[in-house]
Amino acid sequence: MMTVRRIGIFGGTFNPIHNGHLLIAEAAREEYGLERVIFVPASHPPHKQRSDVAPNSWRYDMVRLAVADNPFFFVSDVELLRSGPSYTVDTLRYFHEVYQGQAEFYFIMGTDTLLDLPTWKYADELIALTHFLSALRPRYRTDLSMLTAKFGQQTQEKIHFLHTPEMEISATDLRQRFATGRSTRYLLPVAVQEYILANHIYR
Ligand code: ATP
Repeated sequence: MMTVRRIGIFGGTFNPIHNGHLLIAEAAREEYGLERVIFVPASHPPHKQRSDVAPNSWRYDMVRLAVADNPFFFVSDVELLRSGPSYTVDTLRYFHEVYQGQAEFYFIMGTDTLLDLPTWKYADELIALTHFLSALRPRYRTDLSMLTAKFGQQTQEKIHFLHTPEMEISATDLRQRFATGRSTRYLLPVAVQEYILANHIYR
């Protein structure tokens, strides 16, 4: 019998990528036996203000630097090359094609994103295309009633919670730290930190 390939997809703005992202991706990989985790930086995030988002090429480079030392981690520019807003459903359709129906997908996210899920474009199609792995995030409590109202039975079958420590790291806080010259040590990979400082990204 053929074992199903399990592929992790991690979408985000990654503005910048930080240790919170890396830790939940690694936890997801280990806990769900994922063959690999593909980080997919978003181009035009529909829910975020464009003005404070660093250019695509910088965010792509930062993810590339962050994942370089993990043989299970990859980065895809599929959303950066697509014109118009990035919808996760298009990305999942794309990866289903790439793997020719031979893989199961596990979309990695924090609880803040999970609670937004019912409002996403084509959410019903999306939940048919992927499982969701959610890491708890401080201050976001998990009231699953909205999810159950929208997705019914599929909520239990397709939405899972990771066993990761909750981490108070956010890209918003990191951007503020870089802007004001405060310490960012241990919050993101050294190579990413150096890249941000060398290119004056958040100053
Ligand atoms: P920002 O502060 O700019 O909103 P962010 O830190 O939330 O950014 P994103 O790139 O928007 O980073 O996050 C991508 C995904 O990673 C989202 O699903 C988000 O919930 C999740 N995530 C980010 N940081 C954490 C964290 N510390 N713990 C758990 N999940 C996280």
